[in-house]
Amino acid sequence: MSSHLAPTADLERGITTLGGRRLVFHCHHYNVFLQRTIEDALQERAPRLLVAAGMEASRSMLQKLEAEAESASAADALRRAADMFAAQGFGRVDVGELGESGGRATLDHSHYAVGWVSRWGKRPSPGCFFVAGFLAGALAAAHRLSPERITSREVECVAAGDERCSFRVEVW
Ligand SMILES: [Zn+2]
Repeated sequence: MSSHLAPTADLERGITTLGGRRLVFHCHHYNVFLQRTIEDALQERAPRLLVAAGMEASRSMLQKLEAEAESASAADALRRAADMFAAQGFGRVDVGELGESGGRATLDHSHYAVGWVSRWGKRPSPGCFFVAGFLAGALAAAHRLSPERITSREVECVAAGDERCSFRVEVW
């Protein structure tokens, strides 16, 4: 990872930022417990909120990084987003099939899926909402799309018993 993509640490203030956004580091126990709390409270409304939060957090960060050091192409911007995603410990996402009109992405070793299974076992439906949101935000930043035009959902998930996590991203 080149230096302009690495998080910046302000040791005096105890703040780490990436693309102008503050980073908070949590283990999978914290992250899946927080997600479960939100799902328990909001029930069927939870996925939409969790995906929207992931999208907005990633879109704003990636847009700022693109403004500071523009990628050579949209495909490069998506690869850079995937590299950053992996560097933050969320897993290696393949964005090679994502384009301006959307597409499919797959994820190996999802932080959320592996974390969920290790904490509570299988779940009845896909659970990598943050990842779905991140992909929507990355596509919005790479192709300069309005976030309202993008929907993203996970269609297969390791946490639900599938072999891998895969996502369908659509642009309207
Ligand atoms: Zn998953």
